[in-house]
Amino acid sequence: MPTHTASQRYLSTRGGSYDFSFEEVVLKGLASDGGLFIPEEIPVLPSDWATKWHNLSFEDLAYEIFSLYISPSEIPSADLKDIIHRSYATFRTKDVAPTVTLDKEKNIHLLELFHGPTFAFKDVALQFLGNLFEYFLIRKNEGKSGRDREHLTVIGATSGDTGSAAIYGLRGKKDVSVFIMHPHGKVSAIQEAQMTTVLDANVHNLAVDGTFDDCQDFVKALFADPEINKTHKLAAVNSINWARILAQITYYFYSYFNLIRQQSFLPASKVRFVVPTGNFGDILAGYFAKRMGLPAEKLVIATNENDILHRFWSSGKYEKHPVYGKAAEGGLPEDGVKAHESGVKETLSPAMDILVSSNFERLLWFLAYEVYSTSADAVSQRRAQAGDHVKNWLNDLKSKGGFGVDKQILAAAQEDFSSYRVSDEETIATIKQIYSAPASKGYVLDPHSAIGIAASLRDTEVAGPPSTHHISLSTAHPAKFNNAVEQALPDDKAYFLEKVLPEEFKGLEDKPRRVSHVKKSDGWEGVRKVVIAEVEAELQAADKAGR
Ligand SMILES: *Cc1c(COP(=O)(O)O)cnc(C)c1O
Repeated sequence: MPTHTASQRYLSTRGGSYDFSFEEVVLKGLASDGGLFIPEEIPVLPSDWATKWHNLSFEDLAYEIFSLYISPSEIPSADLKDIIHRSYATFRTKDVAPTVTLDKEKNIHLLELFHGPTFAFKDVALQFLGNLFEYFLIRKNEGKSGRDREHLTVIGATSGDTGSAAIYGLRGKKDVSVFIMHPHGKVSAIQEAQMTTVLDANVHNLAVDGTFDDCQDFVKALFADPEINKTHKLAAVNSINWARILAQITYYFYSYFNLIRQQSFLPASKVRFVVPTGNFGDILAGYFAKRMGLPAEKLVIATNENDILHRFWSSGKYEKHPVYGKAAEGGLPEDGVKAHESGVKETLSPAMDILVSSNFERLLWFLAYEVYSTSADAVSQRRAQAGDHVKNWLNDLKSKGGFGVDKQILAAAQEDFSSYRVSDEETIATIKQIYSAPASKGYVLDPHSAIGIAASLRDTEVAGPPSTHHISLSTAHPAKFNNAVEQALPDDKAYFLEKVLPEEFKGLEDKPRRVSHVKKSDGWEGVRKVVIAEVEAELQAADKAGR
């Protein structure tokens, strides 16, 4: 295939490291200067992409796109195809990511990303990442046996969705152990059951008697600990891993082609993607798609009350705490929104409850690269300058709690993106509205997807039918967040149980579980003890089995 000739290398957004391979980037996760990895060049689409890719299956499309980011010398074509196939064979629909039209008159379509093993969009990336880890390890371990084999210990913290998707991505994988910490009693019953009922020997759930932030602090402390890094090769699966962004690019193209195949989408029509956003990972994949050449008119950010991104796009200020926002809202305490000790608000869309968006740093690099340098500068100089800007901004975020950008940077950001903030109240109202609207009658949105639809409905007033279509990303199945759904549709429990609740969820909470309990007071050293002991027990069992 002529497209699979890329020789793509990667650099850090903070300018400290260059010329990394895809494999290094995937296994390292975070650059040693604290920055995130990005491709040195955003590949441009082959000139015949629109006709050639038009009818491709999700898997074939993924192959074409990934090939532009992964050199064939790193992963040969046949292997890449096999990895992709195994990653998406676990989805319940052959289509992987179908698009449904929710409102024909307003041209609002929903891209359903929840047909993977854990019923949330993170499966699209983590099924792929799990197979990549395994692929790289098998290759490194060729001809080695027993304790000579390189073993990866994946450590993560979750407030719900990431953990289950990571566990399902890594369960049963050779030479990988996965440890996921969750705050005990603070994730939803379904999410807890999804994680702890996975009994594969390499899956280790740790319930911490603290908050999500405590879990995250433990993860950070372990990654910074020289002791465990001497004996264990640690890896991360959080949303900053580049392979996750890459995997998510596919569905922007796939849903675009789905729309093109529909009669109502004319050649002159425009498309806007609306993305419920937390860590900016999902929508960043859309940015890469757009930069590659996908004709998306705008990427629309939809936040909940944790609105640092919406505030940035409104003001050019990226601040953990909205100093001026409070006054604008009348300074009144907001009903029903609990402030977390760290300043994160607990909302009905918990997977988007963040204080800062970690992947935003990647966008900042591209903005700085384009705005602050001219094409007359040498590329290496342009890259170094962009890295310096990012480093300064992120330093200010850390030391002062925020930073502001120039008008030109904000204007460049507004070229590609617009943003909306959606309250819990509007989330509930949107679930109700879609459920009872004649056009979409009976469709039940999860609260995250409802935030996208609420933003889509508002955005149609800016750019609407007949020429503009909105593709709104649906990030989770409603049964995963039934608390919000019950609030919105209190009289429709029977309908929910019969028509919405998936078979896989029935009886899940009664299945056997395996989970270790960790006391916050034992500190991260306590967690280290548990990790070391459980990896050792797992390896001994594998030795006995003669692997
Ligand atoms: C993770 C998640 C999001 C947010 O995705 P980001 O990539 O962090 O922006 C939205 N909805 C659901 C259901 C999620 O699990």
